[in-house]
Amino acid sequence: MNPFKLARSSLASALKQSLAVGSSKRYVSETAATGSGPWFDLSDDQKNIIDLAEKFVKEEIIPKAPHHDKTGEYPMDIVKKAWELGFVTNSIPQQYGGMGLPLLDHCMIEEKLGYGCTGIGTAISANTLGQAPVILFGNEEQKKEYLGRLTAEPIFCAYAVTEPGTGSDVAGVKTRAEKNADGDWVLNGNLKNTLNYLQS
Ligand SMILES: Cc1cc2nc3c(=O)[nH]c(=O)nc-3n(C[C@H](O)[C@H](O)[C@H](O)COP(=O)(O)OP(=O)(O)OC[C@H]3O[C@@H](n4cnc5c(N)ncnc54)[C@H](O)[C@@H]3O)c2cc1C
Repeated sequence: MNPFKLARSSLASALKQSLAVGSSKRYVSETAATGSGPWFDLSDDQKNIIDLAEKFVKEEIIPKAPHHDKTGEYPMDIVKKAWELGFVTNSIPQQYGGMGLPLLDHCMIEEKLGYGCTGIGTAISANTLGQAPVILFGNEEQKKEYLGRLTAEPIFCAYAVTEPGTGSDVAGVKTRAEKNADGDWVLNGNLKNTLNYLQS
C-alpha cells in the first residue's frame, strides 16, 4: 500500500478512537479530561499528527519548493499527496469522510506546512476557506454532497469573496446570485485573490 495512504488510514483510525471518547471540539489535549484543570500537553495523537506533517514537509515540500518558486507551477502532485494524508480535509467532520480535527490540531498542521513553504502550504490550506462556510452553514444535503465529494476523491475547492473594492468589508460585497428563467442560479460579480480557482 502507498505509505501515505497507510499513514492516513492508521492516523484516521487512531484519531477516530480518541475522538470517540471526547468532544470533537477539543481545544486542549483530551488528557485534560482525566485531570483537574487545564492541561496543555499534547496528546499522543496530536504528537503523531505533528510528526506526520513534519515528515511530509521534509520529504515532499522542502525539496520541491525551489522548483515551484522558480517556475510558478502549481504543486498539484504535492497537494494530492497532502489530500491522501487527510491534510486537505482534516477539518471536515467524520460523518462526511473527514477527520473532524479541532482548530488546535488544524493549526499545528498549518504551522508545519508553512515551515516547509508558505506558498505550497497556502495552496493546501486554502481549501479549508471553501469548506468552512459549508461546514458552518450548509444544510445536511449540501454537507453530504459537497463535503462528501471533497473527501471521496482529490478534488479541490475555492472561496471567492474578495472584490477589487471590497476586502475586509464582506458586507459590502457586490457579487449577486440570481435565479434565471430556467431556475438556474447565475453568479454575477468581479472577484480577485481567489486561491485555487483554476484547480477547483
Ligand atoms: C495569501 C492570501 C490569500 C488570499 N486568498 C483569498 C481567497 O482564497 N479568497 C478570497 O476571497 N480572498 C482571498 N484573499 C484576500 C483577502 O481576503 C483580502 O486581502 C482581505 O480580506 C483584506 O482585503 P483588502 O486586501 O482589500 O484590504 P482592505 O479591506 O482594503 O484593508 C486594508 C487595510 O485597512 C484595514 N481595515 C479594513 N477595514 C477596517 C476597519 N473597518 N477598521 C480598521 N481597519 C480596517 C485592514 O486591516 C488593512 O490593514 C487572500 C489574501 C491573501 C494575502
